[in-house]
Amino acid sequence: MIQIVNLQKFFTTEEVETTALNGISMSVKDGEFVAIMGPSGCGKSTLLTILGLLDNPSEGDYNFYGTEVAKMTERQRAQLRKGSIGFVFQSFNLIDELTVYENVELPLLYLKTPADERKQRVEEVLERMSIMHRRNHFPQQLSGGQQQRTAIARAVVAKPKLILADEPTGNLDSKNGEEVMKLLGELNDEGTTIIMVTHSPYDAGFAHRIVNLFDGKVVTENFHV
Ligand code: ADP
Ligand code: MG
Repeated sequence: MIQIVNLQKFFTTEEVETTALNGISMSVKDGEFVAIMGPSGCGKSTLLTILGLLDNPSEGDYNFYGTEVAKMTERQRAQLRKGSIGFVFQSFNLIDELTVYENVELPLLYLKTPADERKQRVEEVLERMSIMHRRNHFPQQLSGGQQQRTAIARAVVAKPKLILADEPTGNLDSKNGEEVMKLLGELNDEGTTIIMVTHSPYDAGFAHRIVNLFDGKVVTENFHV
């Protein structure tokens, strides 16, 4: 469902060129749960950003669910970002000025989902993430675990095919981290494809496969049973 071939990404700042991705090829099947691991600076976030259509590669091909990303219009890419991909970040990235409910509702507003369906979907996902009792709170009034559950609610409210998670438990204690991983595991059991960057062997244990990066390249892949 996702196929990348010889992906490269260069960044140039003040005449210094950094090679963030140095020829990455990989495929991810629909319904798979893939963990991406590797030392800091090896290109994990850059790869996720490109997979999430938030940035373009410098070289190489990316085929997303049957279409070459390079041949898509910016409008098509934006539509996929809104409707088909959910993002979860280490730092939660919630909007501080909006309540839990409003943060989770946002993707459906972008998609112009009708009001009654919007309310039903938001309430369903808030229940599911055990955050309903905090619906009128602002992010700063929540614990880290509650903030990440809100972020996951926002990521899944539009029922995306793919969730991209960048160190989703990186700012959580082990109990909250476990809870977040169980939620991601359940979403994957229900058919959502997940690609997750992590430093945690415990978190990687939820994946079917671990892709190890080093210096912008895939060095090894391990499969779980
Ligand atoms: P990781 O997530 O594995 O820690 P990153 O993908 O964030 O690594 O970064 C890979 C390399 O690319 C690093 O050397 C980083 O400094 C560089 N890099 C990432 N994003 C940018 C950017 N926007 N501009 C310049 N360099 C960048
Ligand atoms: Mg990173």
